[in-house]
Amino acid sequence: MDIQRYNRQEKLKYLQGSGQKKLFAASILLVGAGGLGCSVLQGLAGAGIGRIGIMDHDRITLNNLNRQFLYTPADIGRWKTEVAAAWLARFSPGIQSEVYTYRLTRANADLAEEFDLVIAAVDNLETRLLLNEACVRRNIPLIDGGINGWGGCLFYVKQAGGPCLACLYPQAMENDREPAAFGTMAGMIGMAQAQMAVLALTGHTEGFEGKYIWFDGVNMEFHHTIIQPQSGCVVCGGHAQKQAGNESN
Ligand SMILES: [Zn+2]
Repeated sequence: MDIQRYNRQEKLKYLQGSGQKKLFAASILLVGAGGLGCSVLQGLAGAGIGRIGIMDHDRITLNNLNRQFLYTPADIGRWKTEVAAAWLARFSPGIQSEVYTYRLTRANADLAEEFDLVIAAVDNLETRLLLNEACVRRNIPLIDGGINGWGGCLFYVKQAGGPCLACLYPQAMENDREPAAFGTMAGMIGMAQAQMAVLALTGHTEGFEGKYIWFDGVNMEFHHTIIQPQSGCVVCGGHAQKQAGNESN
């Protein structure tokens, strides 16, 4: 890493001293290289995260370009993972990147163990819940995000104990295959996910743990509600009980 590149941010509380070095040493798996993912990747790359895995199984289409700001018309038809990784290599050659051009499933979710943190930047609740389960079971922190019309949401799923995304959404709902999606909303929520990642990697999650945060892009307001871990949650409820059981043995 070219240290001088980061000297403006090393003045910041949390990034002074060892903070920036933690980011250089950190690894993140970014699942989804669409609207949210493009923005997340820019935030992570700018911050100087040392190693970034990019997972996506789609090719770029013309109607992605209203919100997927790393891609241009010349990229139509190419894999998002490859174009995103090529952008990353140009933007910050010191960052190590890996691409995974396939869909995340239960069978390949062990990949998450190779990273310090996972970011969900996908457009369907089914995959978000699958990632939630994969990360909670493996004790890997997850930053979930989603956009919905003129707004979006954010949720940090810490290691062990909940609350988790399944406490909020016990099961996937029917998804519109091509919901409305706008670039500025993807950009704002994706950057907010990257900001949460920086804070999590430097050990400062106390401000947003347990908060379900959403942004109203019409009234320009952030809101949050505190989520309580659900004892009946099949993902973190069982895990929390198992942890407690282990401690009493
Ligand atoms: Zn839960």
